[in-house]
Amino acid sequence: MHYIEPHAHMVSRTTADYQQLAMAGCAALCEPAFWAGYDRASAQGFYDYYRQLTEYEPARAAKFGIPHYCWLCINPKESEDAGFAREVLQIIPDFIDKPNVLGIGEIGLNKNTKNELAIFEEHVELAKKYDLPILIHTPHLEDKLKGTKLIIDALKNANVDPARVVIDHVEEHTAGIVLDAGFWAGMTLYPESKCTAARAIDMLETFGMENIWMNSACDWGISDPLAVVKCALEMKKRQHSIKTVQKVIFENPARFLKQCKNFVLPETP
Ligand SMILES: [Zn+2]
Repeated sequence: MHYIEPHAHMVSRTTADYQQLAMAGCAALCEPAFWAGYDRASAQGFYDYYRQLTEYEPARAAKFGIPHYCWLCINPKESEDAGFAREVLQIIPDFIDKPNVLGIGEIGLNKNTKNELAIFEEHVELAKKYDLPILIHTPHLEDKLKGTKLIIDALKNANVDPARVVIDHVEEHTAGIVLDAGFWAGMTLYPESKCTAARAIDMLETFGMENIWMNSACDWGISDPLAVVKCALEMKKRQHSIKTVQKVIFENPARFLKQCKNFVLPETP
């Protein structure tokens, strides 16, 4: 089995996790910019973080033969201070030409506030200016449906091609509206919150296997870097063919990521 991990926060993981990922068949890995486990005190903190994402993490992953890619932004959790967020936005163009950068992400909403939405829209403009795909984080629990609708409206108003946007952390009540509007959908597999393997497979069976991917996020919370392969095993248990499993865990993310100019289709067995 080989697969692409399209959303993993490796800055929060140990090097031993890279070893596990490599042994499990991870052929490429993508890391969206997000919270670093603490709120950064200055825009300079993001400069260092972007260096980590574009220099140090790719080198750490390369030791295990895994190509590492990243997405750049200031996450919605730290975007509430709009003045601060705008300082960070000015740094991003310095890193856009790094060889492992895929696009702008994970942007989106956390508490669905006015400031978060304003900074979200400014990121979308940045993506348009540099012709980059977008990866989107949707809020948790009761804010998810409202936040997803706000995000879709903002993207429609900005005239963004939905085929170049993936809206992540979809659940049963948001997957349909995301896919129907022409966007890609991501399902985040968590041991406790967000989405279990069983629920993810139910969603695949309900909404179809097109334009959808699965990821582990593997961040600062209770999470599992091997969640995608574990879900693939669960799909096999439910009698899905190897072909279908490979489509969901490799071909689908590859098809979306091929739209990013720096993404190189990884060599597979
Ligand atoms: Zn994330």
